[in-house]
Amino acid sequence: MKKITILGSTGSIGTNALKVIGAKQEEFQVLGISGYSNFELLKEQIEKFDPKYICIGSKDKADILKNLYPEKVVYFGDDGLKTMGGLEEADIVLTAISGAIGIEATVEAIKKEKRVALANKETMVAAGEYINNLLKKYPKAEIIPVDSEHSALFQSIQGSNYKEIKTLIITASGGTFRGKTLEDLKEVTVEQALKHPNWSMGRKITIDSSTLINKGLEVIEAHMLFGIDYDNIEVLVHPQSIVHSMVEFVDNSIIAQIGVPDMKLPIQYAFTYPNREGSCELERLNLKKLKELSFDQINNNVFKGVELAFYAGKTGKTMPCVFNSANEVAVELFLKGKIKFLQIYEIIKKAMEQHSIEEADNLETIKKVDKETRKWVYDNYGED
Ligand code: NAD
Ligand code: MG
Repeated sequence: MKKITILGSTGSIGTNALKVIGAKQEEFQVLGISGYSNFELLKEQIEKFDPKYICIGSKDKADILKNLYPEKVVYFGDDGLKTMGGLEEADIVLTAISGAIGIEATVEAIKKEKRVALANKETMVAAGEYINNLLKKYPKAEIIPVDSEHSALFQSIQGSNYKEIKTLIITASGGTFRGKTLEDLKEVTVEQALKHPNWSMGRKITIDSSTLINKGLEVIEAHMLFGIDYDNIEVLVHPQSIVHSMVEFVDNSIIAQIGVPDMKLPIQYAFTYPNREGSCELERLNLKKLKELSFDQINNNVFKGVELAFYAGKTGKTMPCVFNSANEVAVELFLKGKIKFLQIYEIIKKAMEQHSIEEADNLETIKKVDKETRKWVYDNYGED
């Protein structure tokens, strides 16, 4: 039995992970789950999967859970999340929290030399250099990517030497607003931005997909996970979301991973790696029904997310952290109706311009820069 902790069990990735586990109860056991504000769903999950450890956002809710389930260990808040990341009994920790708030729990899991099934891409963007140093210090710890593109890259690299990689080709659906002009995007609403053509995901990542910031975050995530130079990472728009990403090797051979757009596959692969397993939860791709697989350039004049990320990534040190933190607050402000869609780019650009870069090899600096950047965005754009 593999014991799994799911950080962010009430989210889109978290609920998919529980479906994966639910279909394989003889193989996987839920050790711990964490939610934030969705009390009812967390309670349902507790009843169904009987985890030993639980974590929730607030102390009040934690007290209610303690009364309901006196035999369970209940944590709350940021410290609780951190403790959940480092549970001794876990074999695998799935980080399915949204945002840089997931960094410290991931750090704890690495320090306990666990397998981290990493969905929380913001951690690798904001703290990638630090996390990579930590992995050297705790060599039994491992990160298996869950993000579909990185899982695809990881799967395509299996059996090859990283030195033989020429290009990582990350595919992008193009998001809700693919084909739109700058003029079209000036007045788009939150509702329009939240409609993703191919994937059903949490609100934050859905907005990130519509700005293509998600693809930018993924470029930095790929650099951090696979150690490939930014000059050898390419993004192509692939509206069908069937080819999840590709690796071009030195002999010009390209290996791709393709399948239905369903996060349950990369989640399960991160749990079972290096093995593959069938599951009633995993759908077959009907190749005969595929009419077209197309690939195109990003329109960087309209969607600035990828270029901004390349700038942040190539600058390095604390700049990717600023890129991420500024975006997190900008997305929150957009969702609250306080800024316009295109201001998300403006905020990230200006936050990076005002930042003086520092070494990003320690957690204190990353936390400080994250906090300062958030404050800067709130101070300049958060007021009514
Ligand atoms: P979501 O919004 O659906 O879920 C987020 C989870 O994090 C919830 O369980 C929520 O309770 C918890 N959470 C939020 N704020 C918290 C806080 N302050 N403290 C503790 N817990 C908190 O998000 P999602 O779509 O499942 O995405 C999760 C992560 O996975 C993100 O980093 C995202 O980029 C990444 N990811 C998601 C998908 C997808 O298909 N949804 C695909 C690839 C990568
Ligand atoms: Mg992705």
